[in-house]
Amino acid sequence: MSSNSGIQIPSRLPLLLTHEGVLLPGSTMRISVETARNMHLVKNRLLKGTSLKSTIIGVIPNTRDPEHDTENLPTLHSIGTAGLAVQVVGSNWPKPHYTLLITGLCRFRVAQLLKEEPFPVAEVEQLDKLEQYTSPEEMSEAAGPEGELGELSQRFYQAAVQLVGMLDMSVPVVAKLRRLLDSLPRETLPDVLTSMIHTSNKEKLQVLDAVSLEERFKKTLPLLTRQIEGLKLLQKTRKPRPDDDKRVLAVRKGRVLPGRQFSLDEEGDDEDGDDTAVLERKVKGANMPEPALRVCLKELKRLKKMPQSMPEYALTRNYLDLMVELPWSKSTTDCLDIRAARVVLDSDHYAMEKLKRRVLEYLAVRQLKSTLKGPILCFVGPPGVGKTSVGRSIARTLGREFHRIALGGVCDQSDIRGHRRTYVGSMPGRIINGLKTVGVNNPVFLLDEVDKLGKSLQGDPASALLEVLDPEQNHSFTDHYLNVAFDLSQVLFIATANSTATIPPALLDRMEVLQVQGYTQEEKVEIAHRHLIPHQLEQHGLTPQQLQIPQDTTQDIISKYTREAGVRSLERKIGAICRAVAVKVAEGHYVTKSEAAPAESAPQGAEHGEGKRGRRGEEPDRVSADMAAPPDMPIVIDHIALKDILGPHVFEMEMSERLTLPGVAVGLAWTPLGGEIMFVEASRMEGEGQLTLTGQLGDVMKESAHLAMSWLRSNAKTYQLTNMVGGSDPLEGTDIHLHFPAGAVTKDGPSAGVTMVTVLASLFSGRLVRSDVAMTGEITLRGLVLPVGGIKDKVLAAHRAGVKRVIIPKRNEKDLEEIPANVRLELDFVTASNLDEVLNAAFDGGFPGISNPLPLPHIASKL
Ligand code: ADP
Repeated sequence: MSSNSGIQIPSRLPLLLTHEGVLLPGSTMRISVETARNMHLVKNRLLKGTSLKSTIIGVIPNTRDPEHDTENLPTLHSIGTAGLAVQVVGSNWPKPHYTLLITGLCRFRVAQLLKEEPFPVAEVEQLDKLEQYTSPEEMSEAAGPEGELGELSQRFYQAAVQLVGMLDMSVPVVAKLRRLLDSLPRETLPDVLTSMIHTSNKEKLQVLDAVSLEERFKKTLPLLTRQIEGLKLLQKTRKPRPDDDKRVLAVRKGRVLPGRQFSLDEEGDDEDGDDTAVLERKVKGANMPEPALRVCLKELKRLKKMPQSMPEYALTRNYLDLMVELPWSKSTTDCLDIRAARVVLDSDHYAMEKLKRRVLEYLAVRQLKSTLKGPILCFVGPPGVGKTSVGRSIARTLGREFHRIALGGVCDQSDIRGHRRTYVGSMPGRIINGLKTVGVNNPVFLLDEVDKLGKSLQGDPASALLEVLDPEQNHSFTDHYLNVAFDLSQVLFIATANSTATIPPALLDRMEVLQVQGYTQEEKVEIAHRHLIPHQLEQHGLTPQQLQIPQDTTQDIISKYTREAGVRSLERKIGAICRAVAVKVAEGHYVTKSEAAPAESAPQGAEHGEGKRGRRGEEPDRVSADMAAPPDMPIVIDHIALKDILGPHVFEMEMSERLTLPGVAVGLAWTPLGGEIMFVEASRMEGEGQLTLTGQLGDVMKESAHLAMSWLRSNAKTYQLTNMVGGSDPLEGTDIHLHFPAGAVTKDGPSAGVTMVTVLASLFSGRLVRSDVAMTGEITLRGLVLPVGGIKDKVLAAHRAGVKRVIIPKRNEKDLEEIPANVRLELDFVTASNLDEVLNAAFDGGFPGISNPLPLPHIASKL
């Protein structure tokens, strides 16, 4: 069917052999070029060619196994498709290769191979007629094929219409396909549809080989019918989702794209010229401010003049795509109602009353002033205390979108402000990216971990952040990539940090710090039962009828498997339990009635666990079966099941074990992760009066140690302290070693002063420090005790560790008000204004030498 009319392809064509499928006329396909032969073709022909003709190549399916396709030219498949290379993209990673975007034009037959090296060139005979594009009106006027062929093509057309009719017309791509069916010449339909429906490469090859139109219709019709049947089956078995249609059509992006003139995909994926017209429409409809619009129109003008193969084309296109996607004037309406906000905050979070109150005040002021100008809230506290989750609730109460921007480790200011577009791989910063993600210009942005911002040669991200947060400047925030101002003044920023110490001062100045403290054991139990367990059950597809975790077990998890101020590990441990149970439930792996006899006779709940426990003692190797309960009973996690799932206890009460020798005392430390107890140890040996300090101490702490030592030396007589040789100077003939675990963690601060004095007093007097006492406080050379920070976190840590008496500086008494009543009742607080009082409280029966032991100021009852 050689053609003399219409467009002629060149009679000599360079041949590209591909393993990646079969290119059919009328479809577009991406081909990866890696073999030496094909690389030569791209370099010598496509990249050097200047005329349109030089971009037409012959694509021949290579049926030979790619592994064996090395040096010699394989036997060529005799029929191929002439294709127009629309785009050539090169890359060196992971190895040099090109990616071609090729549109199939028409079939050809290889008449004679003219040369093989460096790439094959053949004399070809054009097989299909290649017409100029005709408008639908002209088409309908043109007479269709007649006779049997006419009937075949009519049947084919009807089947195609039926297929499209089964798809959802509201999907643009389907509507477009429907229109195309009428406007395309009938003889092109088999090729076009074959490349869109599900077909194997072998089937496509058969269609390619079907040179006569009649044969082609006959080959394709069964494929089309098969697709229709498949679709019927699919629709019968499930309710269609809108994107099914796209999938069924197998218009797989990147693999087989509909062709240039037959483009079916949504507008955004068009590869042709009117693509820029679509973009222009979008630019004009994006409602952007005047300056941004001007820039976009200028870029658009440049884009229109650029060939698509130019790398800059893609860059400019990406830029314009981002510009039209940004929410220049899209926003959500605030629906703030303080009463509703209180309900939301309360229902999302247990405890944290102070924080919730402050957040409500903040929101109320914003509502009255109807402006967002004012300090940025910054939640400071240990991990897992709900900072992020309060941020999310604020967004919920306002009816705004929420987006979290993690700043931990960001040390390059372009992370915030974007890269200039001249860089390869340049992109906008996290703020603009966040706006694109949420799609509105007034979201709540949570700037997570502002205290972990880094600094590097690439500039200081904190200064970029300053501009973002400053209400005077942020209405015209200019991202380097966008290069036009974007108004951030409607965004509500909230920051979080673990500690204020490392927040850059200028940034801290813009923020109102709200401390979020750690939770008590009781609060954690409540949080677990009200929020964490229901949430984890839901996440794992379990119900309370399948899994129950009694309060005792939760307490065990908290005290024996976690040591934290927040509830993050607790949540993870509950997650681990849910996973273990989910496996059992999913397996349906329950014990049989006879096996479960002891459990069966026991009622549900904790005693149910007791029932199993007796039996488990005899059969320790049957653990996994035992964890499951009979089908109609929930799986109750008792403490033995807990051990099976989480393993042996990670933390044990070690207080009394560690305090069995003189020279050990428990101090209370504050870290960004919450309060901690710290066992301070001292030992002495013969020597020359040296003081050795270990445990990575900072300067302040080293000074405290020297202070403690000096105070003890000067008061040794009063306290009847002796050295190893019986003299009254503790350092005579003696070396002292003070150690602060954990040795690998750097520590600093003055608050361990009282602990050091106590440890040394214990060491020199040979008396044991009470095993249930913990203390904190700064000391002076004259023996006064000065106030320190972080009292609440420290006291909670002491309570967690099972301490009964806590010694704090007198001037910290006011901080005790923050401590929950139940913790206050369980602890015995001693407030000390001097070291005599500290020593008196730390040793059983007071400390010798303090002539008139003062009555201990127990203050718990006062509060
Ligand atoms: P942070 O941001 O402080 O590190 P998150 O907000 O990520 O902590 O909290 C960790 C988990 O603990 C979340 O699942 C959160 O819902 C839960 N959580 C923390 N505090 C509370 C609370 N007071 N009430 C309910 N859930 C809480």
